[in-house]
Amino acid sequence: MQGICEKILALPAQRYVYDFDQPSEGGRELLGGKGVGLAEMTQLGVPVPAGFTITTDACRAYMSNGKALPDGLDGEVDEHLRALEEKTGKRFGDANDPLLVSVRSGAAVSMPGMMDTILNLGLNDDAVQGLARTTGNERFANDSYRRLIQMYGQVVDGIDAHRFEQALTELKKSRGAAQDVDLSAEDLADLIDTYKRIYREETGRDFPQDPREQLTRAVRAVFDSWDAPRAQVYRRTYDIPESLGTAVNVVQMVFGNKGDESGTGVAFTRDPSTGEQGLYGEFLANAQGEDVVAGIRTPEPLAAMEKKLPRAFEQLLETMRRLEEHYRDMQDIEFTVEDNELYLLQTRSAKRTAAAGVKAAVDMVGEGLISREDAVARIDPAQLDQLLHPMIDPTAEWEVAAKGLNASPGAASGKIVLDADSAEQRGKAGESVILVRWETTPDDIHGLIQAAGVLTAHGGMTSHAAVVARGMGKPCVAGCDALSIDLAGHTITLGGHTLAEGDVLTIDGGTGAVIVGEVRLVPPQVNDDLETILGWGDEYRRLNVRANADTPEDAAKARDFGAQGIGLCRTEHMFMAEERLPVVRAMIMAENEEGRRKALDELLPMQQADFEAILEAMAGLPVTIRLLDPPLHEFLPPLEEAKDERVRRRVKQLQESNPMLGTRGCRLGLQWPEIYEMQVRAIIRAARAVEDRTGEAPLVEIMHPLVAFQEELRRLRELTVRVAEEAPDVEYLCGTMIELPRACIRADEIAQQADFFSFGTNDLTQTALGFSRDDAEGKFLTQYLEDGVLQKNPFETLDVGGVGDLMRIAVERGRSVKPGLKLGICGEHGGEPRSVAFCHELGLDYVSCSPYRVPLARLAAAQAALAASGAAEYAAAGG
Ligand code: PEP
Ligand code: MG
Repeated sequence: MQGICEKILALPAQRYVYDFDQPSEGGRELLGGKGVGLAEMTQLGVPVPAGFTITTDACRAYMSNGKALPDGLDGEVDEHLRALEEKTGKRFGDANDPLLVSVRSGAAVSMPGMMDTILNLGLNDDAVQGLARTTGNERFANDSYRRLIQMYGQVVDGIDAHRFEQALTELKKSRGAAQDVDLSAEDLADLIDTYKRIYREETGRDFPQDPREQLTRAVRAVFDSWDAPRAQVYRRTYDIPESLGTAVNVVQMVFGNKGDESGTGVAFTRDPSTGEQGLYGEFLANAQGEDVVAGIRTPEPLAAMEKKLPRAFEQLLETMRRLEEHYRDMQDIEFTVEDNELYLLQTRSAKRTAAAGVKAAVDMVGEGLISREDAVARIDPAQLDQLLHPMIDPTAEWEVAAKGLNASPGAASGKIVLDADSAEQRGKAGESVILVRWETTPDDIHGLIQAAGVLTAHGGMTSHAAVVARGMGKPCVAGCDALSIDLAGHTITLGGHTLAEGDVLTIDGGTGAVIVGEVRLVPPQVNDDLETILGWGDEYRRLNVRANADTPEDAAKARDFGAQGIGLCRTEHMFMAEERLPVVRAMIMAENEEGRRKALDELLPMQQADFEAILEAMAGLPVTIRLLDPPLHEFLPPLEEAKDERVRRRVKQLQESNPMLGTRGCRLGLQWPEIYEMQVRAIIRAARAVEDRTGEAPLVEIMHPLVAFQEELRRLRELTVRVAEEAPDVEYLCGTMIELPRACIRADEIAQQADFFSFGTNDLTQTALGFSRDDAEGKFLTQYLEDGVLQKNPFETLDVGGVGDLMRIAVERGRSVKPGLKLGICGEHGGEPRSVAFCHELGLDYVSCSPYRVPLARLAAAQAALAASGAAEYAAAGG
């Protein structure tokens, strides 16, 4: 018993503080990003100021202790302060030559919204005199002190910044000073008095003169800022766990504002917009970093530093090279020069455009800095959208008038048109137009084709407008609640603006922003570097990538982007072409088989021609053609348009309350077999014709939608085989969509009738969650996402826990009876990076997505394979 007690007592006390030159095991989780950077730089021998880090453990202990600093922390801080005094040869609070420190927050993930920095901590009424004496610069000393009171007052005591700013403005006015630098040492001494008075008025206390008290309160303020509402909002938005906590860095102050041999700046090791090597950054002589941030003075290009501070400049270039070599990534650096001595204050992986990221990665492989695997793993697939579509120029200024769903990426500016016919006419005449509708229907397709982009008030990520726009690679903002359309008055209202048809709008389908007026755009930037990275990725990925395409043009585009087949050809889009819709309607409206067959006979050669063109465009690659699927209401004329009483009656008869759960998918094929017979015939004849023409047999896969029961597919397979026997030597596969929960559960039975499964995760999400594809996103789902009930839109990112489990069951049960069963996904999730990673994990054979997402899916699939094999050092998806 005693032995155990002794052991417990002998355990080392929890350690909360590490000097930058003391190795620690905890990495960024323990020391925060900034702390780890400073420690690593110190250990590399890069010049950084001395200092120490108070760990995130201390922050967590503080939070769970009801905001009391944990036992032992004060003593440890004292100890490390003493070490810092020794290293710098200065003492904290010394009236002759004081040690000053900055206090900086630093979480494991960089997080705006938290307290950032307090500078010059350690100054008081005596120390300021000492600083003036040792530097021989009273103005500088006074300026440092007034900055401390201001920053400390704001961040530690929550005093409104405006109070200090106003006092400074008034002082400048009364002294006729245009800028801060025009104020004299005496002016600044007056300002210190004013600031101290403000501090006293606001807090009821004097500005603390004890530097140790200043430090303790600053540390607490950093911890408290972790809990501030804006930091919480940020964490929720970016999925950062609450439990991480922040570290605090206490860093010896170095002064860039000591005179002409001092300065401050930021530098990138490569151009963050293009990735080119060269000098990128800004420099400001005789200034502190916050002068640049606050926009008080305008910095010069970094090259200007070479003339002013040549020695420090050389050292900076050498340091940048070493840091890049060490981190093997583009760095974004903050530095200060004090009396010709260079100090690095921070280094981090640089934020960059997609183009810069791709170029830098390819270049670094060439330079031997990183491996190909690393290059593939470090590109954020979601960012590739930037390269494949026109984007808003990042330097342009604009204001968001309203927001909708980011339904199809890219940006477009154009004149507002409110109907498809005008969009078609004006588009054909060369005008750039944005089609603005409550929602689009198949009737609008000709307008969509000619429009530069589409904006709808209703509908979600799988609405007609969204799916069609993504297929065409056009920008679409859908479900924009703030949009209201007055068709009769030819106007729209948009978040408080009233605009007329013909006025100009800009939409950004990557963010969902809608902007009044024209905004400068930058064109797509597909280039050889992207091809190179994707080519490397192809060597690692196991998943094939196909495209969802319904036209030969889309098929060709998909092939250009590297698609390895068509995973979903939706035949209904062919039914909706302008000249065919009346025939399709006649077929649906026919009251008997004879009437339907007459219309179908008319459609057969058209469908066959469609299939021939697509099969030829995809020669040598598999093409999955899905038989007619949509709910009938999508083809029917609106009741009010139907003049004839017979037609009205039929329209009424066919109307359904829940068309998405109604007469659609294979139910159509079973109710009216002649429709599917015609389609199978058209496919088989097309395959025959293409083979005769080209000598190569197309790889055709016939797919039945919305199957729930084995018996449905058994009958439809029989139909398929029967019709296909009309051309006995044509080879084909016959399979099914898996898009209903029952189909997942009974996948072993269904597999007996299927050569392949393709997961229709749009419908599967709709039916598994009970969320309407057409309505949820415009209604409660938006609220769910805002309130954090759900973290992600399940129509965009696969709901792995629910829908994903159903898929897993289907894979296991399907393959239990047919081990070689071919498996794919053709719902919108097939082009979303996280969902692609999940499909890799499930062991699917391919993902299929809209043509413009094919490069993104190729990259995501490669990253998933690399992550699973542990071959690359960086986490996938921008990690
Ligand atoms: C699906 O449901 O996921 C699918 C691909 O089919 P559609 O979107 O055409 O219903
Ligand atoms: Mg479906």
